[in-house]
Amino acid sequence: MNINLKELKQKNSIINDMLMKETIWLNPDYIDYDNAMRNINISMKDIEDTENRLIRFSAFIKKYFPETSSSNGIIESPLTNIENMKDILNKKYDAKISGKLFLKEDSNLAIAGSVKARGGIYEILKYSEDLAIENNLIKETDNYEKFLDLRDFFSQYSIHVGSTGNLGLSIGIISAALGYSVTVHMSADARKWKKDLLRSKGVNVIEYSSDYSKAVEEGRKLSLKDEKSYFVDDENSLNLFLGYAVSAIRLKKQLLENKVLVDENNPLFVFIPCGVGGAPGGITFGLKQIFKDNVHCFFVEPFQAPCMMLGMATKLNNDISVQDIGLTGVTCADGLAVGRPSKFVGVVMRELLSGDMTVKDSVLYDYMRDLINSEDIFIEPSSTAAFHGVCKIESDDTFREYLSKHKLIDKMKNSSIISWATGGKLVPEDIRKEYINTYL
Ligand SMILES: *Cc1c(COP(=O)(O)O)cnc(C)c1O
Repeated sequence: MNINLKELKQKNSIINDMLMKETIWLNPDYIDYDNAMRNINISMKDIEDTENRLIRFSAFIKKYFPETSSSNGIIESPLTNIENMKDILNKKYDAKISGKLFLKEDSNLAIAGSVKARGGIYEILKYSEDLAIENNLIKETDNYEKFLDLRDFFSQYSIHVGSTGNLGLSIGIISAALGYSVTVHMSADARKWKKDLLRSKGVNVIEYSSDYSKAVEEGRKLSLKDEKSYFVDDENSLNLFLGYAVSAIRLKKQLLENKVLVDENNPLFVFIPCGVGGAPGGITFGLKQIFKDNVHCFFVEPFQAPCMMLGMATKLNNDISVQDIGLTGVTCADGLAVGRPSKFVGVVMRELLSGDMTVKDSVLYDYMRDLINSEDIFIEPSSTAAFHGVCKIESDDTFREYLSKHKLIDKMKNSSIISWATGGKLVPEDIRKEYINTYL
């Protein structure tokens, strides 16, 4: 598509902001939950169906990945109250947080060590169940440990996926476990250790010198050539999205366990790092099903790669890339290094997402060190982007406008804020040291 930048900037003054400074975008189309859901044909029933499928597969997961045995083959992360981090954010960044602060540790998810252990793994399980049922190899009522015996059957099939790193890790590991021949198409942003780890598990890794969109395109092309091949479409997959959405059902229980009330007088704020949009979109969709108007979800994107903000603010979705407005798409937050957003997610988020914001790379390392120093928890720089929202929600004028509009100012002392940590567990020790010593 041809973009007339001058005209576009005239219509969307936010583009000039995005080019000049860290920007907070409040979604002008955000409306109440009931009305927003009238235009969406995905529902709670789809999320429940997804959760039931994950429960069926738990016997296989538990057997093949012993690290999941304590949770009976259910891949889930802790919700951790981080009061020490809250104190640091208040003191060092004048964040003015008055309620409770939690870290959702998807950085610690079993098997893939990132939020992709939700969407990516589910996508392959769903595909495998469909294949096995079609071929009369399994019934829903069977014990799914049986999948351990289907590796020969799945070895006739291949899986392809394009990735900046973490999606490749999750798809690669679970596909290899089920017996598939799997190829991960890695963009230039992907870290070497991720490629090495995948190769050690028998995954075929193809490297590209270009960005994520190109890696996806090439993967799709190769996959189409082979009729027994399945291409994981990160940009358009409903199943990936639903895999992420299940987190909301689990979070509801964890909030209860932590005695956190979410209702009209006790609002919940959630900040999630965003790349192509699937993970934060799926999580937001799930949370809105459960907490409706009492949860306020915001995405956080790198200053140089705010693809979802650009797509949603201009309503051009995937018809525009950050490069079209003169940003580079290059960021140390490798999990978020995406220049063009998912249209599917942009459309579903249209009236459900409260807003989006950008963050410069330099502070990501600072937040990372702050979390280590205050809570002894390591997460990767892509994940720490969420803390930028935590720091701004009660201190920035644009966010105060949102709080005021939704009559939330007086309720902030009863609020809970969740910083969604999206990756970190598998980062090797030497790379952690390198991160900790990085000052931009
Ligand atoms: C993939 C990823 C995200 C964002 O997910 P998208 O579906 O690309 O929006 C956030 N953080 C990390 C660490 C990731 O790997």
